Amino acid sequence: MELPKGTMTGLMKVLAPLLMWMSVGWFAYPYLIGDIASAAGETIDMDELKLFSFIMAGVCLGLGIMFLALGFGGKKVDENDFKRMTGELVICKHCKKEIEKDITIITCTQCGKYL
Ligand SMILES: [Zn+2]
Repeated sequence: MELPKGTMTGLMKVLAPLLMWMSVGWFAYPYLIGDIASAAGETIDMDELKLFSFIMAGVCLGLGIMFLALGFGGKKVDENDFKRMTGELVICKHCKKEIEKDITIITCTQCGKYL
């Protein structure tokens, strides 16, 4: 899979504010649900709801900050770094060159030997 240059940083720039916004939403969620539930005369397990919401808020905030730093930071994100993390790039044991891992690839694209 060949991604155009800057796809990852572009994606992160879009996702970062979205994740931040989602984080705010998750923080507000238990209070909104609490109000709605009490208005409807229902009781819900607020502790459990709050715990879940705050975990989600934390995850979104963490990812948002990470994407913000990667997307807008001075350091250009190397798409190959990302592929290495996701296991899309493997190192050929014959020629030691990095090649893109694909289920259709059984021979090294650099040296032609079987992987
Ligand atoms: Zn090779």
